[in-house]
Parts: sequence; structure tokens; C-alpha cells
Amino acid sequence: MNTNAFALRHIGPSEAEQKQMLNALGLDSLDQLIYETIPDDIRLKNGLKLDEPMTEYEYLLHIHELSKKNKAYTTYIGLGYHPSIMPAVIQRNILENPGWYTAYTPYQAEIAQGRLEALLNFQTMVIDLTGMEIANASLLDESTAAAEAMSLLFAVRERDQKKAGINKFFVSEHILPQTLSTLQTRATPIGVELIVGKEEEFDFSEDFFGAILQYPGKHGQITDIKSFIKKANDSRIKVAVAADILSLVKLEAPGKFGADVVVGTTQRFGIPMGYGGPHAAYFATKEAYKRDLPGRIIGVTKDMDGNRALRMALQTREQHIKRDKATSNICTAQVLLAVMASMYAVYHGPKGLKFIANKVHNRTVILANALKKLGYEQVNSSYFDTLQIKTKAKKIKKVATEKKVNLYYPNKQTVTVSINETTSIRDLNYLISVFAEAANEETIVISNITDENSIDSTVKRTSDFLTDPIFNLYHSETELMRYMKNLERKDLALNHSMISLGSCTMKLNAASEMLPLSIYKWANIHPFAPLKQAKGYTKVLKELEDQLTEITGFAATSLQPNSGAQGEFAGLMVIKAYHESRGDHHRNICLIPSSAHGTNPATAVMAGMKVVVTKSTDEGNIDVDDLRAKAELHKDNLSCLMVTYPSTHGVYESAIKEITKIIHDNGGQVYMDGANMNAQVGLTNPGNIGADVCHLNLHKTFAIPHGGGGPGVGPICVAEQLVPFLPGNPVIKTGGEKAITAISAAPFGSALVCLISYGYIKMLGAEGLTAATKTAILNANYIKQRLQGSFDTLYSGERGRAAHEMIVDCRPFKAHGIEVSDIAKRLIDYGFHAPTVSFPVAGTLMIEPTESESKAELDRFCDAMISIKKEIDQVSKDNPNNVLKNAPHTLNMVTSSDWDFPYTREEAAFPLDYIRNNKFWPTVRRVDEAYGDRNLVCSCTPIEAYAEA
Ligand SMILES: *Cc1c(COP(=O)(O)O)cnc(C)c1O
Repeated sequence: MNTNAFALRHIGPSEAEQKQMLNALGLDSLDQLIYETIPDDIRLKNGLKLDEPMTEYEYLLHIHELSKKNKAYTTYIGLGYHPSIMPAVIQRNILENPGWYTAYTPYQAEIAQGRLEALLNFQTMVIDLTGMEIANASLLDESTAAAEAMSLLFAVRERDQKKAGINKFFVSEHILPQTLSTLQTRATPIGVELIVGKEEEFDFSEDFFGAILQYPGKHGQITDIKSFIKKANDSRIKVAVAADILSLVKLEAPGKFGADVVVGTTQRFGIPMGYGGPHAAYFATKEAYKRDLPGRIIGVTKDMDGNRALRMALQTREQHIKRDKATSNICTAQVLLAVMASMYAVYHGPKGLKFIANKVHNRTVILANALKKLGYEQVNSSYFDTLQIKTKAKKIKKVATEKKVNLYYPNKQTVTVSINETTSIRDLNYLISVFAEAANEETIVISNITDENSIDSTVKRTSDFLTDPIFNLYHSETELMRYMKNLERKDLALNHSMISLGSCTMKLNAASEMLPLSIYKWANIHPFAPLKQAKGYTKVLKELEDQLTEITGFAATSLQPNSGAQGEFAGLMVIKAYHESRGDHHRNICLIPSSAHGTNPATAVMAGMKVVVTKSTDEGNIDVDDLRAKAELHKDNLSCLMVTYPSTHGVYESAIKEITKIIHDNGGQVYMDGANMNAQVGLTNPGNIGADVCHLNLHKTFAIPHGGGGPGVGPICVAEQLVPFLPGNPVIKTGGEKAITAISAAPFGSALVCLISYGYIKMLGAEGLTAATKTAILNANYIKQRLQGSFDTLYSGERGRAAHEMIVDCRPFKAHGIEVSDIAKRLIDYGFHAPTVSFPVAGTLMIEPTESESKAELDRFCDAMISIKKEIDQVSKDNPNNVLKNAPHTLNMVTSSDWDFPYTREEAAFPLDYIRNNKFWPTVRRVDEAYGDRNLVCSCTPIEAYAEA
């Protein structure tokens, strides 16, 4: 036996441990467990057709070799993506550090204060640079952020009586092409009419509720957004500005001109282009719209002792609470990238950012002067980093390509050049020589950089930014390294203990899967580079698509959606396009079972559908009779069903084939939410159960780490009839023959992290993947067995088994005054992150161990849960001063000279022996959620500071 096989490293329990666990379940073999778990009629007869697994070493050689097929030409394409320099200290201590990249979304604030602080820094940075009042903690990319801005302005127009019913949205012709395409996708279903035009010709008519500008424009021109916004405000038209974050260092903040929303990407702040992503988008707006914001917002609050603490604010806007009335469907965002971009700002500080922005700008002006001397016509009158040259594009393109330089050629007479942080004097001279050669002129040699300016005085920045001490303290590597370590230590991630969040699949993110992200020729490819230069990517992405198509039993895959919720949206839009292609424009009813994840109804609304909720039975299954009745009632207008499989209740519903048939018989398509795919891979698949399209969460099932709340990749896999409609991109041809417009900014979404899933599948192979699924099911059922007698499990399959996760009921403990949140917080004292709290059933915990956890870790977790149950038995409703209500216990409490709790310090902090060996100390006591929402502060600077300003 190869003791070093990747499958053995990835799958937690050894063969001997698996035997013990099966014994505990009264079973002889894993296959018997699978037989008792998955209904016979949906189990696959044949294994997956995938390549033989590679060892980790083989894989690293392979991925290195493949990277050489990518040509990392010097790139000046711009259009929202620029080469940037990731400080090595950030690369090593965050990007390559499981303490940061394996954490989950900060649902348990007490053990997430580190990344919450980093995100608060991110928000502060965005607020400062944009001049707005509040910002969220990242969105998926600039184009989807622009779409969210449009949606917000559309939603808030209702508050202005004069604007009720108005549906026109002006889009400046300077907008990035991928943003225009994304706006188109998002506008139509909600009833917004886009009017694209010239800013200077816009008449500010009353027919418009809003407008979006690009600052600077896609070809570099800085327009007079100041007077545009003023005129718009006068006509009660709200304005969103998509702004380049680095240019804001030199350009006046749009907030100072009265913009309502400012969005953009923070990619230039030290994040590699990665062939399109992942990068964190930002979204900033006015305080007045705080309840309309999409995505997560980090806010300041206090803990039980009144000390400052951070947590996610205003969650009542979000899909998991508001469902079809949510402000957006965003769940996973781009936390890791936001953390990195914020650290870039912390490291450079305001002076460093000015140095970088000046460097970029000065080089651009010097280049412009040289090109002018060579006889070129540069048409941007005011610009930051991008020049627009009127010339025969073909001639330049020929020389540039020969000399391995990428420029952008928007049309036959135009060439654009975007300068960036990495551009050296040598690069500049090389670039000039390209233009000289194309013009048959002697080149001009630049030898030094002088201070220059080509920014119109009306928009020159005068306001301060990043004045908070955070951005002015950590400029040496030693200091930054320690600051990042300080934050990291406050957070519980997978490198400390199991994170059994149900529905989130917190499995191992193997180092071998992660290493390739740091390889130069994977990290530094522009998403709009010619396909010929991206042959390595084309091969990997195509193969990953094929692997996922095989695993789901479908016909094709699109990797473009950059989160699960985006995948849902893509899937529904593809279904819509399919119906429309058959003349069924009216099909708009989306059936959703009551137990669905909040993103499902929120997405259906974005896709312009009407949500009809179907009931669950007492056993937690879909009520088939109710579903049939509703499908038949709406059969003329039925668009689709959104169904999660196995169900969010952790059960393989045996009626699933009947359910998908009912939908088809009534003219609908079946959308399967694939978040629970870890319970299917190799054993059954969405195609097999009769679905037509599903999304996968590569950041759940396929080993992309959660990064503290993102990045994610949410590809959709579709059946034959939906293939023609897979999403396209306006710059790089991709998608189906009748592709719908863009779902995300980049043609292949967050391509860089797709390498992780590719590696996962390559190294596990068919057998390893299937073994992983089986072991995930074994681990869940083992926990279920061990908790029996202490906790009741809600819902099981027909033969009494759980799927890959289970729901344990905590509602009976209310008799002791104990809520499910008390158990969640008490688990922190035991060194564990709580399972998913109150989803899909209020008052319960949903536990998903994944295949990566060993028996020893599962036992520790079960010991902790059983011990907590004993504690519950000893407390009473009448006396809330107990070890559960006071949890979690901080080091400060336990070492304080005052200790007047009715239990010992030992009972508080070391209730079981194993804890002594690996104690995790939360840095704050239980946070006060409500206080922070009443007193919203979402930047480092106290709110009074800008209230006064
Ligand atoms: C995680 C999850 C989603 C959303 O995925 P994101 O990537 O967070 O957008 C949707 N449905 C279910 C059941 C999930 O668990």
C-alpha cells in the first residue's frame, strides 16, 4: 500500500478507525452504510470516469509544467485589472497561511475578532478613499458591485414619490465592457431599462431614477463627474460611480461631489490578476442607505463587560433572514482578498499609497509626452494611468505582440495603454520602443522620472485619507508581521480544530492544492489576455469543466459564477433563456421548499421570478402532495423548482425522482442547489436524480478554502438543452452559442482558485473522491451515534441514517433556560467552533464533520457536546449565572483576582482534559448584537468624526 497516497492524507479516519466507527454503528462495511443511506434507485452503478490520481509530488511537477504554457507578457490592458505587487510579508503570512485562509465567515464573533478587525480596516480604507459614509466588507467583483449599486438605487427610488414607477438607468459610455454586460444581465429581470450614452449629452430628464459613471473611464479619460453629479442631484437622479481605487489617491473622492454609491475593485492593492480573480470589490454609500446595503457589513459593538468588540452588523438585511425580501443574495464574498488589500493599505499607509499613485501617474504622463514626440495623437485630456492613442491599431498590435507586450485595442483606430505599480523605467523605454518601431521612428529614451500632472484641477484630490493610526503604525515588515500574527491568534481556523458548520463543508484545504496560487505564471495573467497566451489556463479550466460535468452527470459546465449564490442566479437566468427560446416568456414561477437556504428565494427574485414556497412534512421531507398541487396549479407559468439534495435537513429524499418528474410534467426545469454535493460525489449525481442544472460550491465540496468568508467559486453544470445559454463575456469569447450576458466580470470567474479544485480532483481521482464521500457520510453517522442519548437528531433517512450532516435539537433545553446560542458559545471554551446555528431549523445545530476529520477529533468534539449536555442538566432557568450563559470565558476573566461565579475557574476554562494541551482563548466576551445595530459604526474612526466634518 502506498502510505503516502493523497487520499490517505486527505481522508481523516484510517482504515482501522473506520472499522471501529462502523462497529459502533453495528455495521460490517462502509458499503453497507451507504446502502442504508442512499436510496437504491438513485445510486450510481458505475464509477466516475476520471484520470488516475497523481501523488502530491507528481501534481506539483504537473502544475508547474502547465504554468509554462501561459505567457506572462508585460501587460498594459487595464480595463479594471492591473499588474500589482503583493508585499511578500502579506503573501507569506496571509495568502499562504491556513490561520487566515481556512477560517469561515465570522458567524462566531468571539473567535473571529482578528479578521473582523482586518475587515473593519478594509471598510475604513474604502470609506476614506471614496469619501462615503459607510462601506461593506467586500463584494464579488467590480461589475457585480455596479449591478448591486443599480439595484440599491432602484430599490430606494420608491422613497421618492416623484420617482415611483420610474425605471430608466443611465449608463455612461465610459463604463467597462464587462460591467455593461453584467448590468444588462441584472437589469432586465427586475424591470430596469438601461440607456447607454454620452455623459455630456445626457439631459437629466425626470424619466431616470439613477445613473452610473466610470471614474476614470474605460479608456482612461477623466470626465467632469463633479458637475454631472450636481446636475443629477438637482433632478433627483441618484448617481453611482465605479472608481479605480488607486486613482482615488489622486482624484477627489466621489463622495465629496455628492455621489450616492461608489463601487470598484481593490485588485490593484496587492492582489494578483489571477486570470480574472478572485479580487475583493468594494461598495460604499451614504448612511441613509445602510439598511439597503448588499453583503456583509462589519460593525463595532461591545461585549458583556462593555469592552469594544466587532461583529457582523445589520444582518436583518441579509438573505439568511430576509429571504425573498433581502437586499441581495450575497452570502460568500471575497473576505481573504479584502483582508489582503486592507493589509496593503496598512503596510503602505497614506504616504506609501501616494508614492505609488504618483509613480504610476508620472510615468503615464512621461509616456504620453514621449508618444507625442513620436507623432502619436493621445486624446485623453485628463487622465490618471491610461492613455488613449488614435492610430492604426493593427500596426501597433503587430509590433507589440512580437515584443511580448499586451495593449488594449478597443477598435481599429484606438490603442489604450494602462500603466501600473510594476512599470519600471526599463518597461517604459521598452514600451516607447514598440510605438517608435511601429512609427518607423528613432526611439526616445527616458532616464529619469519627474513630477508631472495631467489631472484636471476640478477633480484633483484635496481631502485626507487613512488618517487612523492603524494605517500609520505598521510600515516595517517586523511590525506588520506581528500585527497580522496578533490578529490571526484571535481567530479559530481549521489549523486549530474541526469546524463542523453544517452546509459549509469545512474540509481540508491541502497545501499542495494551495501552492500553485503563488506560481508566477498562474498568478500574473490578465483575464483579457489573448487566449493564445493562456494555454495553460485554457487546459486546466477545460479539464476542470469536464471533471465537474462528469461528476454531476451533465453535459457542460461554466466556471464563471464566483459564488454559490451567483451560480444560482446564473442557473436561473439560463433556465429563463431556455424558456424564452421556446416562446415561453411568461414562465416565471419558482417553487422553493420552505427549508431552502436563504440565497434561493433571494436569487429567484433577482431573476425576476415569483417565489412559491412548498411545504415540508413532519419528517423534514418535501411534501410531495403539496408540491404536485402547486406545480399543477401554476403549470402554465411554471419556470422551475429550486431543490437542495440531499435536503438541507441532511436527508436523501427517496421521492426525489418523482419530484423532478412532477416539475418536468408541468413544463418546468429543475434547479438543484449543489451545496451538499459532498454527499453525492461518486455515489449519485444531479443528472441522475433528474435535475437540469446545478451549481457547485467549489469552496465547499472541492477544497477551495473559505478564506474567512470568501473567495468562492460557484460553477453551474447543465443538461444538454441548457448548454447553448451558458454565460458569455463581452471581451473574451466564452459560454454557449446563444450565451446570456455576463454573470461575473471575468470570462472564467475566479480562475486562479480553480486550480485548487482541479488539484483536488487530480490527486484524489475517482476512487479517492468516492471514498471521501463515503467517509463524510460515515463521520456524520458516527457523530449521530455518539450523541445519541444526549441530543436528539431531527430527521433521518428511511433506514435511520443521516447523510453527510445532521441536525441536533437544542429546543428542549429551553426548559433549563438554555438557548442554542449558549451551546454555541460554550463550545468555544472547549476549543471548538459551533456547528451551524438555527439553519434550517430554529433552535438547532447542524453538524457536518466532512471526511477530513479523524476519529480522534470527532471523539473530542462529541466529548465536548456530551459534557455540555451534562452542564445543561445541572443548570436551571431561575439562575442564569451559570457556565453556559457566561460562556465564552476569556483569559482576562479566568486570571482576574475577582472570581465570583458559582463554578470554578477550572470548570469555566478547562472542563475536559484535552483542552489543557491546546487551549483557545477568545479575546472578547459574548458580543452584544443589538447594541451595535442601534449604534452603527463601521469604520475605525468613530462615527462622530465624520458627523462633525
Ligand atoms: C452555502 C450555500 C449556498 C450559497 O453559497 P455561497 O457560495 O455562500 O453564495 C446556497 N445554498 C446552500 C444550501 C448553501 O449551503
